[in-house]
Amino acid sequence: NNSPHDMQHTKGQKSAFKVAVFSAQPYDRRFLSQINQDHFQSLHVELVYYSSTLSQESTPLAACCEAVCVFVNDCVDEPVLKLLSEQGVRGVFLRCAGFNNIDLKAAERLGMFVARVPEYSPEAVAEFTVALMLTLNRRTHRAYNRIREGNFDLNSLLGFNMHKKTVGIVGVGKIGLAVARILKGFGCNLLAYDPYEEEDFKALGSYTKLEDLLQQSDIVTLHCPLMDSTTHLINRDSLKCLKKGAMLINTSRGGLIDTGVVINALKSGQIGALGLDVYENEASLFYRDRSSDIIQDDVFQRLVTFPNVLVTGHQAFLTEEALSEIAETTFQNLQHFADGTVCKNALVGGGAKIDD
Ligand code: NAD
Repeated sequence: NNSPHDMQHTKGQKSAFKVAVFSAQPYDRRFLSQINQDHFQSLHVELVYYSSTLSQESTPLAACCEAVCVFVNDCVDEPVLKLLSEQGVRGVFLRCAGFNNIDLKAAERLGMFVARVPEYSPEAVAEFTVALMLTLNRRTHRAYNRIREGNFDLNSLLGFNMHKKTVGIVGVGKIGLAVARILKGFGCNLLAYDPYEEEDFKALGSYTKLEDLLQQSDIVTLHCPLMDSTTHLINRDSLKCLKKGAMLINTSRGGLIDTGVVINALKSGQIGALGLDVYENEASLFYRDRSSDIIQDDVFQRLVTFPNVLVTGHQAFLTEEALSEIAETTFQNLQHFADGTVCKNALVGGGAKIDD
């Protein structure tokens, strides 16, 4: 009973159904509207865009909609799902791979359909990850500013060759594997930690225990999902294993790192450089212009004062190719929802079974 209730006319012709798109940025609107117009007109979807994030307060915006379409910082917890369900919303469509922001069990209890975009251009995130590594290593972020100010001094811009350095990849899924392939081209030695081993990685590097990976790597990069078991994977204890002065990169989810502990490790020099595209309390900061605000998050503000820290605002996915694939897969998911057919990207409903 997951398909939209008022979509089917008796003659089998479909009527339009509305989807409230939260956290909609101009680029989301462009790619979603384009794919709707070019390839899915027969689905008769009406997209209603909202720049606001989904929260208990914003659920009324989805009134009259059969489904909502959300992104990484939208809150899809049990109270939000209940409010949506009471309004008649029966589908949740994530425009991302990670699903740590949705309560799947609550969605199942409410009989909802939930689908995500499990795979979209892993190279988009992988290439951005390597961009962070190279920027921090060769200090191009600092060189850019110096040259603009007429400062041609090279002191403190000293980097190292990537060639023959050891990079530890935590989580070798689609993105971790794409990172491994790029770094192999640089001539890096690759180590990986993942509870599930991927055959394709074995031709590029070797699997090891997390502790050994942290001890041996010059650069550690995180690519595992955020779950209860991976929350604060980088904490006081695991940091003790890290090679002194190693670089740490996180383009996965902010909650993988205990930020307070990492700040202390930067102060002591245990961490030599830190590249973050994600931050554990990013939801109240990212995706908006806050340049005229007094930012209240002192932990975040401390982070950005370090010369060896580079923070970006969850943009690793932001390429033409990735946005186009996200839009296409989202519409394929909507098609399954509308047709009541099995959806391989479903997390709840659509033939999906959730693990306990
Ligand atoms: P994936 O599911 O293909 O791979 C995740 C890998 O992590 C799997 O191989 C899994 O076995 C492994 N893993 C699970 N638990 C682990 C643990 N405890 N320790 C180490 N490894 C573990 O996912 P993916 O497509 O490669 O994406 C990885 C993550 O990247 C996503 O979960 C998402 O949070 C993040 N992401 C970020 C952006 C961005 O814009 N910054 C974009 C897309 C995805």
